[in-house]
Amino acid sequence: MTAITQSSRTNLLGLSHEGMEAFFVSIGEKKFRAAQVMKWIHHEGCDDFEAMTNLSKALRTRLAEVAEIRGPGVVYEGTSNDGTRKWVLEVEDGSYVETVLIPSDNGTRRTLCVSSQVGCSLDCSFCSTGKQGFQRNLTAAEIIGQVWVAQRSVGPRRDTANRPVTNVVMMGMGEPLLNYDNVVPAMKLMLDDNGYGLSKRRVTLSTSGVVPMIDRLGDEIDVSLAISLHAANDELRNELVPINRKYNIRNLLDACQRYLAKCDDTRLVTIEYTLIKDVNDQQEHAEQLAALLKELPCKINLIPFNPFPHSGYEKPSRNQTMRFQQWLYELGYTAPIRTTRGDDIDAACGQLVGRVKDRTRRHERYIQSIQLDAD
Ligand code: SAH
Ligand code: SF4
Repeated sequence: MTAITQSSRTNLLGLSHEGMEAFFVSIGEKKFRAAQVMKWIHHEGCDDFEAMTNLSKALRTRLAEVAEIRGPGVVYEGTSNDGTRKWVLEVEDGSYVETVLIPSDNGTRRTLCVSSQVGCSLDCSFCSTGKQGFQRNLTAAEIIGQVWVAQRSVGPRRDTANRPVTNVVMMGMGEPLLNYDNVVPAMKLMLDDNGYGLSKRRVTLSTSGVVPMIDRLGDEIDVSLAISLHAANDELRNELVPINRKYNIRNLLDACQRYLAKCDDTRLVTIEYTLIKDVNDQQEHAEQLAALLKELPCKINLIPFNPFPHSGYEKPSRNQTMRFQQWLYELGYTAPIRTTRGDDIDAACGQLVGRVKDRTRRHERYIQSIQLDAD
């Protein structure tokens, strides 16, 4: 597979069903071609119109002139000892994004952690992506391209038993709700039967709390929602998740309630809580968290802080993490601890860092601070 380069042809990879129908109408073809071509692309992993044997030779030739199926280039692919697979992908401008596929312990689920942006502008204090600054939004093709690469690496999906990706979480690099216009079509493809056919409970968008966009999301698409809370009072959350200064905890939880009201089933919001040693891992924090979430139908996921150089934070001990879990349990919450997977290939979901080529000033300053520290 070749890396993405600029082209004037329409890239069909990122088109939702509506988008694909509009494309076929624009070239004077019938709408039903959309489903046919989508199946070739997303079920078969096909990127060559010539192979699409249920299309006429004339249409195949026409498509090759005006369109293309252009996925990200695979720069690195690795599998860790625990079965976690990781891809480093090269996208349009030579930036790299990382995608990881994490198998569940019992082997029934394989969750793909997908990135939405190169870097992130929100600068959460404990997040390595935030430290890199923001470079750019990924296109819809680059977002769904991550699923496409993972899918085709194990061969065509002809039946549900042969699904390398059973769940998707938008928990890689970037804030998905700040790239709404590209994330939504990509998520539609994840749900579409002509795309990846995943159920709405198996596609999760994680946000640090862009409140107006949570409302918009609920109006437009039905997926599961995860909230990166990490603190149960505004003072601490302002420090850890700076967007809290704009949309505070009350605003955020109200938006979660409105989101749930739009779901037609008994959905829960997932609350992500990264445990940071001596910052938010004490009994008072567990109590505040339990009190705060009393009214919200939710489940809590505990994520031990994933250390990276010069973060200034530490991971709590295993004992402290379990104590925190126990406090929550006594307060009525069963909160699983999300274990870090794929450590040996540096593939922790939510901390896809590393080799992003970033040219922003913030990143330069960060690098300089590291160098100063090292002196
Ligand atoms: N921007 C979105 C999605 C990407 S981050 C969001 O913030 O929700 C995915 C998850 O990983 C978030 O819950 C984030 O807070 C968490 N995370 C980021 N850096 C981390 C770190 N160093 N250790 C543990 N979790 C981290
Ligand atoms: Fe961005 Fe999410 Fe990292 Fe915050 S935690 S800086 S929103 S990627």
